[in-house]
Amino acid sequence: MTQAILELRDLVKRYGGLVATDHVNLAIHAGEIHAIIGPNGAGKTTLIHQISGALAPDSGSIKFAGKEVTRRTMHERVAAGLVRSYQITNIFRNISVLDNLALAVQAKNGSSMRFWRAAISESALFEEARAIAERVGLGAQVTAIAGNLAHGEQRKLEVGLALATAPRLLLLDEPMAGLAHEESASFIPLIESLVPSHAVLLIEHDMDAVFRVAHRISVLVAGRIIASGTPDEIRGNEEVRKAYLGDE
Ligand code: ATP
Repeated sequence: MTQAILELRDLVKRYGGLVATDHVNLAIHAGEIHAIIGPNGAGKTTLIHQISGALAPDSGSIKFAGKEVTRRTMHERVAAGLVRSYQITNIFRNISVLDNLALAVQAKNGSSMRFWRAAISESALFEEARAIAERVGLGAQVTAIAGNLAHGEQRKLEVGLALATAPRLLLLDEPMAGLAHEESASFIPLIESLVPSHAVLLIEHDMDAVFRVAHRISVLVAGRIIASGTPDEIRGNEEVRKAYLGDE
């Protein structure tokens, strides 16, 4: 087994009397797609907020690439390679797909977006942006205005924007939510293509997709991880079937 890139130890987050994450322990390894599944209200969003740095845990620790990041800001985590793909809101809707990606590449290269030419040459910038567009399946839409893309294509652009930051671990929070069947089908190869260059932590309600793409699955119920294992192990786990899958 490769070294863990992300290690959660005893993460606790309470909202008043409600324990949203209850001593969560989890290890994600380099090059793997690890999915977290669980019923509504299980604590998945609360967990991903703590990992990305949007929410501070009450107790417990988060280690990324061997370093303690529990009290690090979201920005510091992104710089270290721990990146969450946000929903749509990250996209500049009035400019092209290529310009969106070029801005993200430019931002990664360490200069303010107001100083367009500072860190890398314009041709290198657009070459990288174009390569990312190809990777996320938007090679034919580079000149399209981002706001005019179909919903599923905008989701792909979000993944592209996250890739522009050169993540070591990509947090994908319900990337297929609200997508039509054909759109989610085309998302699966994209998620698969992210490894082994990047590790992926996937939160997704589409169980068919999860069981197809994930190498490992952890099941969160009422704030606790009740099982972690390969898709086959999770499918065959009696406790999981009772607590969750049986209800699907
Ligand atoms: P879903 O699949 O429906 O998105 P989830 O697994 O992401 O659910 P969370 O959104 O993390 O679950 O919520 C976990 C629990 O914490 C739920 O009972 C929820 O009502 C509660 N909760 C979430 N955010 C808050 C908040 N800001 N204040 C109070 N309670 C909250």
